[in-house]
Amino acid sequence: MDKSKNKITCSFCGASQKQAKVLVEGDGAFICGKCIIKSSAVIHEANISENNFNLQTLKPQIIKEQLDINIIGQESVKKSVSVAVYNHYKRLINISQKKDNKNDVTIDKSNILFLGPTGTGKTLIAKNLAAILNVPFVIVDATVLTEAGYVGEDVENILVRLYHEANYDINKAQMGIIYIDEIDKIARKGSNMSITRDVSGEGVQQSLLKIIEGTIASIPPQGGRKHPEQPLVKIDTTNILFICGGTFQGILDVIERRVRGGGIGFDRHISENVDKSNLLMKTRPEDIINYGFIPELMGRLPIISALEPLTSDMMLKILTKPKNSIINQYKHLFNLDNINLKFTDGALQTIVEMAKKRNTGARALRAAIEEVMLEVMYEVPSLKNVKSCTITKDVVLCKKSPILSFYKNTA
Ligand code: ADP
Repeated sequence: MDKSKNKITCSFCGASQKQAKVLVEGDGAFICGKCIIKSSAVIHEANISENNFNLQTLKPQIIKEQLDINIIGQESVKKSVSVAVYNHYKRLINISQKKDNKNDVTIDKSNILFLGPTGTGKTLIAKNLAAILNVPFVIVDATVLTEAGYVGEDVENILVRLYHEANYDINKAQMGIIYIDEIDKIARKGSNMSITRDVSGEGVQQSLLKIIEGTIASIPPQGGRKHPEQPLVKIDTTNILFICGGTFQGILDVIERRVRGGGIGFDRHISENVDKSNLLMKTRPEDIINYGFIPELMGRLPIISALEPLTSDMMLKILTKPKNSIINQYKHLFNLDNINLKFTDGALQTIVEMAKKRNTGARALRAAIEEVMLEVMYEVPSLKNVKSCTITKDVVLCKKSPILSFYKNTA
């Protein structure tokens, strides 16, 4: 390796310092940015290739423990998705064993359906799963699919996005996770919903069914409309894990009707002893079908998991516990100005109560705290020698000034 000026080259691809822009020096060798990216892709591929999925590190309890870091509450959902994901990757290994004629049992795919109020962690759980598994992940909104005129193509665009997310690596894309949000919005509106029958949802359901059950789709690598001269990429969706989520407003009535046995008469036991949040936990595939889903699609979403509404205690934990919680983010922002930001318990509880009134789950926490912090963030950085800034209940409720302490040595 010639280290004289302008003669340093990448030991892997030979790029000069000028071509590479950045060269990292090791023990007698250099590597350029491009080669770093290439080699990390190779390592990543080795980790997620079918035969190398390490089931030891993906045991359900380990997945759940990792989910616990960022997701507060939702214990039964975290458990069921941990098992589902473990089985999903067992299934991938099973497929490769089948290829080698080591066994002939087929394990069905464990796609998941989340039901629950908005802002309770459906998307967050899906996102965290993808991060734990280190696979590409995309979130798509089912409502967009209903709006497009030519639905078939739109549904395939989900796959294009996953392919992009996988950095154009088809093998990685084929093992990714797709989260379809607001799936309830493509329900066929039937007699249950007392709204005019809308068959458009059913068309989208049919197209989704195709990719969820497994198909080989041809997608334009850059997305957009397919045209004849364009080379298409084939993507097999058999091993892609689909997680669908929705609030399913009105489903409690459907479940209640089933539990009551057809809705004739009045069952005191049910109406008095089963509160509505509990009822959601009792959701069965037939309820989702009655809500407006085609049975074939339900058949492909065998794991139904209901999220619980967030209690004040859960909201308080969401505010403070996760490493990346909103409070920790604000503390970090103030830390950069050498200011120790504190919140009293009363302040935190008041923020939670304000957020709860908005009825959008934990999503309202950020909005509530931003309102409180705007004035403080505007004023405090301009003050000199501030050591600590304490947000009290009065700051939250009456927009009073926070309690400040100052460094003694004011030079
Ligand atoms: P939805 O259930 O509507 O998909 P999200 O998962 O997108 O809701 O939640 C919105 C935000 O609220 C998340 O980004 C996260 O900050 C917070 N959040 C919601 N539920 C939880 C939870 N159970 N634990 C931790 N944070 C949560």
